[in-house]
Amino acid sequence: MTPPAPRPLPATAPTEAVGVDVGATKIAAVRVSADGTVAARARRATPRGTADALVGAVAELVTQLRGERVAAVGVGLPGMVDARTGALAFGPGLDFARAPLRALIADAVGLPVVTDNDANVAAWAEYRLGAGRGHDHLVLVTLGTGLGCGVVVDGRLLRGSHGFAAEASHLTVDPGGPLCECGNHGCWGVSASGAAIARLGRRAAAARPASPLARLLGRGSPDAGEAVTEAARGGDGQALRILDRVGTLTGIGVAALANLFDPSVVIVGGGPVTAGDLLLAPARVSFADRLHAPADRPPVPLLTARFGNDAGAIGAALMALDRPPDDGPSDRRR
Ligand SMILES: [Zn+2]
Repeated sequence: MTPPAPRPLPATAPTEAVGVDVGATKIAAVRVSADGTVAARARRATPRGTADALVGAVAELVTQLRGERVAAVGVGLPGMVDARTGALAFGPGLDFARAPLRALIADAVGLPVVTDNDANVAAWAEYRLGAGRGHDHLVLVTLGTGLGCGVVVDGRLLRGSHGFAAEASHLTVDPGGPLCECGNHGCWGVSASGAAIARLGRRAAAARPASPLARLLGRGSPDAGEAVTEAARGGDGQALRILDRVGTLTGIGVAALANLFDPSVVIVGGGPVTAGDLLLAPARVSFADRLHAPADRPPVPLLTARFGNDAGAIGAALMALDRPPDDGPSDRRR
């Protein structure tokens, strides 16, 4: 007896993609439809060592999430991604330099693959379906372990000649500020990021061990940055000053980007934005102080990202659905 032939998908079947967000410690993956709905998710630890191990881990997640409607895979990588080859040209903490990850992953999963910088794919998520929907010119910054940035210009991601554009992490926002791994002082990534909030929080707690912040941290809070936000909500002066300082420096960085790219909206994402106006109100003040001729241009709202921890994976999936794999560095929407 012959088995029944598989029913063809209806012509209107939504196409799905798997989006993968490779972080320094974990890899998160989602299966997403074109309207951004997450149908399934999976995660695992980031393997150490060779590119083959990373490719194997990504392929395993794709296999886990794959459905019959999955047409492509998008992968966000933590570092500078070569737009021509899809390779990670420089990735702090990950030693996969120059391995042709896009081709290796495509071979492993048998599907078209796009790779891009993790902040670029997050910016794509916000542009397509998030806080930047309807804005063809936007800037996204994510405050995390470092500082991520993606810029959309005229409905396309700004990639530059190699794919390395919009690296705002080493923009100086605090001359005389902390030493960055790049050798300079006061880079945005070390001065006003999630890591900066955590560092300043631990230092403040050590200086005043009886403060509410120190008590929160002493209770073994797994995330020093979250402890700062919680203490600030409770009125702890040190914690409030940390968020005010980081917000102010973030606004300085954002103003530089807005003066360069003339976006109609700036979106801030990452864990620290859960602090809301404790962080963003001072950012809006220093942003307005440094935006050129603010009275003579339409207001540029500074908004919170819609997509939280899923932004990278969802954005990678949307980018995979939007961009034919051999379309080269620019993302021409189908
Ligand atoms: Zn630096």
